[in-house]
Amino acid sequence: MTGGPRPAVFLDRDGTLIEECGYLSRLDGMRFFPWSVDAVRLLNRAGFAVVVLTNQSGVARGYFDEAFVRETHRVLGERIGAGGGRIDAFYYCPHYPDGTVEAYRRRCECRKPKPGMVLRAAADLSIDLARSFAVGDRWSDVEAGLAAGARGVLVRSGFGDIAAQQPRPDLTTALVAADVMEATSWILREHARCA
Ligand SMILES: [Mg+2]
Ligand SMILES: [Zn+2]
Repeated sequence: MTGGPRPAVFLDRDGTLIEECGYLSRLDGMRFFPWSVDAVRLLNRAGFAVVVLTNQSGVARGYFDEAFVRETHRVLGERIGAGGGRIDAFYYCPHYPDGTVEAYRRRCECRKPKPGMVLRAAADLSIDLARSFAVGDRWSDVEAGLAAGARGVLVRSGFGDIAAQQPRPDLTTALVAADVMEATSWILREHARCA
């Protein structure tokens, strides 16, 4: 890419890009939605940085370690790549205030709904947040995006159906979509309209 800051789509991982399965703790439990790779590919082609942001409190809870999270992201990136897509970066928060693993038991600025991961990605990748979108199946995903100056999309996959039944009128949500493909289709149109 050349020129100034580019827009990004910040994708939540569990329940958004891959199926929600409680705490993913084995690689063979990772299941993509049938449309995930294509959605990423379309966003790549439109010039968006595609960034995965994920709360992984399972580290603080002692369910798995950071090496497992990184390995999961390496494999996830490879599979997206095999389908012709590209994840530009992964960020995860391993913390949890009530965790059992001392080293990760804390309040932090990265756990969504805090915008820490969005802001870090924006600085690392030179992202134009005002033209960016945060997509996820929890309100905390939307809230983190909004707090950083991006727009927020809730998807009804994963925990999103439950979230959609508990509206958050305090959050100016741009869209409630069925899944990340419907979100992508809408984002591409919005992007073309504003370009
Ligand atoms: Mg999720
Ligand atoms: Zn954190």
